[in-house]
Amino acid sequence: MGSTITNPPRLKDTDSYIDEVMATVKARDPGQPEFHQAVQEVLDSLRLALGKHPEFREARILERVVEPERVLQFRVPWFDDQGKVQVNRGFRIEMNSAIGPYKGGLRFHPSVNLGILKFLAFEQVFKNSLTTLAMGGGKGGSDFDPKGKSDNEVMRFCQSFMTELWRHIGPDTDVPAGDIGVGGREIGYLFGQYKRLANEFSGVLTGKGLGWGGSLIRPEATGYGCVYFAEEMLKTRKQTLEGKRCLVSGSGNVAQYTVEKLLDLGAKPLTLSDSSGFIVDPDGINREKLQWVLELKNLRRGRIASYVEKFPKALFNPLDSLKNYNPLWAVVADCAFPSATQNEINAQDAANLIKNGVHVVAEGANMPSTAQATKLFLDAGILYGPAKAANAGGVATSGLEMAQNSMRMAWTRAEVDDRLHKIMIAIHQTCYETAEKYGTPGNLVNGANIGGFLKVANAMLDQGLV
Ligand code: NDP
Repeated sequence: MGSTITNPPRLKDTDSYIDEVMATVKARDPGQPEFHQAVQEVLDSLRLALGKHPEFREARILERVVEPERVLQFRVPWFDDQGKVQVNRGFRIEMNSAIGPYKGGLRFHPSVNLGILKFLAFEQVFKNSLTTLAMGGGKGGSDFDPKGKSDNEVMRFCQSFMTELWRHIGPDTDVPAGDIGVGGREIGYLFGQYKRLANEFSGVLTGKGLGWGGSLIRPEATGYGCVYFAEEMLKTRKQTLEGKRCLVSGSGNVAQYTVEKLLDLGAKPLTLSDSSGFIVDPDGINREKLQWVLELKNLRRGRIASYVEKFPKALFNPLDSLKNYNPLWAVVADCAFPSATQNEINAQDAANLIKNGVHVVAEGANMPSTAQATKLFLDAGILYGPAKAANAGGVATSGLEMAQNSMRMAWTRAEVDDRLHKIMIAIHQTCYETAEKYGTPGNLVNGANIGGFLKVANAMLDQGLV
């Protein structure tokens, strides 16, 4: 297999055609395992759909959808507090604009590289399609690590990053938002520099502060949406979240508001984590404890280990990188909400979850389960909400922020929350019905992948060869 596609696909059965596309993706970009994993999952689901849609194959939609429309990579030089020059790498992947302007977050984390951002941008295309709103897919970020940096250092970095990025984005072109390491503080600095360079005040970023164009509920949206999605999954088995013991990983934006909504609905969150380890609180994380965590993480920028000093009945388990599983996922519970990062649940973790009674997994993080873990969840027949459906509430509410910015109006908290809730119900319904229609009832992975893909593929067909 060569590393470029130069001939139209030969008429083959769907399986060998899809295998050929996958082999080409791997040959072209061999060092991008996360991107391969994300593409493989979507293509595997499309095995069920492509037979019914020869027009997609004819127009080589698959070959086009795996290829970003544009990839930007740039140097980000900045001065640290000692006056020393630092150099980071900045990226923006403009993956697909068939159904709207590129839309997706910025991630600042030392692990960021082209392959990780391509996986995130690829997922974003189908996720955004599922939201029912008009948003294409993109993702960006940097290998900059905001941890341990002063506010001034973060500001100087953000200003340098935006000094290149601003010329590529715009409210009708590409609208970035937050992700790991990019919260309200970073969005503020990025927005300030954009405004200064472009000489315009527009909705070019989402996740803005409430006093300057942000939307109520945007900070809460990914976590709330993920819990709404879990609620919908449970309804199909005539159950609710009331009294359910829940494992939550991470302690950032998504984890914090997942815990808040779980408390609203009467569930009992037991765990939180960061990259140093996890805490388990047998009494449950109540509102007072959550408030303390919000201050710890968003203001003092401390570590989750200090939870046990404040609440001594809880236990802290430091990360043990020699273990081939994460003991957080071996805590006895009913539901799991992975909300930290990709591939945080491996096959052993998935087996532990299932063995210990977890029968609902709703993914707040992007691609938190490895391919083998996903397979175990599906084979076990538990309620499994894949990331591109379950965590779509964040970008959906970013879409609502864009709508409010365009109208120069602001909706109330109740109005935005109601719209978010309805969108999550609609996403679940699309996934559920699509899974059934394509012969795999209950398999929301297939439902999300096929449901998200069809709208994008049809738009690409309509718009010709671009
Ligand atoms: P935050 O930066 O607010 O929080 C991330 C949390 O995950 C922190 O507790 C962090 O710990 C932990 N974490 C990050 N990377 C790792 C790692 N490699 N190993 C262990 N722990 C890690 O990010 P968000 O809450 O915004 O994002 C969490 C996940 O949700 C990501 O997968 C993101 O892509 C996804 N997501 C976010 C959306 C949003 O609206 N923010 C929307 C949709 C998905 P530490 O501080 O120690 O690094």
